[in-house]
Amino acid sequence: MTLGEALTAARQKIDRLDARLLLQYATGCTHTDLLARPEMEVFGPAHAQFAEWVDRRAAGEPLAYLVGEAEFRGRVFMVSPDVLIPRPETEVLIELALARLPGKARPRLIDLGTGSGIVAVSLALECPQAEVSAVDLSKGAISVARNNAGRLGANVEFREGSWFAPLAGEKFDLIVSNPPYVAAGDPHLALDGLPFEPQMALTDGADGLDCIRAIVAGAAAHLNPGGWLLFEHGYDQGEASRNLLAAAGFQSPFTHPDLAGLDRVSGAQL
Ligand code: GLN
Repeated sequence: MTLGEALTAARQKIDRLDARLLLQYATGCTHTDLLARPEMEVFGPAHAQFAEWVDRRAAGEPLAYLVGEAEFRGRVFMVSPDVLIPRPETEVLIELALARLPGKARPRLIDLGTGSGIVAVSLALECPQAEVSAVDLSKGAISVARNNAGRLGANVEFREGSWFAPLAGEKFDLIVSNPPYVAAGDPHLALDGLPFEPQMALTDGADGLDCIRAIVAGAAAHLNPGGWLLFEHGYDQGEASRNLLAAAGFQSPFTHPDLAGLDRVSGAQL
């Protein structure tokens, strides 16, 4: 079978772009190869890999899990079903964090529920003077995140545990988190490949605000004076997030939209 034939066959089953990307991953060909030499033969093992991926993709498995990587902020991160696939809306969290990293020589920063490590690794690379730590409850996630930090050359220290549990007595200048915030039973959890993602990274199993409550409640005890808490949340959780921040004694809580104009990140200063 040729490249062109393989692509045509796959397009009957899955999205055109996914078909092309999977064929590139399976064969090692570039987009230019596919355009310039569609008559090139696809060898047996590459074709078998491609055919398997196309069927799994057609059954809903996200492309990132098939090929084992995904891009975030221009960097390639390894992903596995132990971690959520990076979402572009999380860039807002990075931008807001970078803008608030204190003028300290060596600000301390903690990423709660780091998953694949995209937040901690991006911040460590883009603010090299920061001392970055990251926490996750999942051993599998920590192993993926540690691998990503190593491959991308980011200096991040990892701790295993639930939210602030592994941080007793420690204080930071910035706390960031992209916690699970989808409510249990949200129909969204059944769509777009989400059933293949770790449910513990998507939903708190309750109203969607449980983890945010835990993070907001614990944050003040772990922030230096003037320190910031910033976290990602659902499009309809801005007001509830600001109320939780105010009730925990934070001043002037704010909410920032994502690129789609939806409420996405809330935060406040101690
Ligand atoms: N933004 C993700 C989604 O709706 C959820 C991410 C999360 O729970 N942290 O698919």
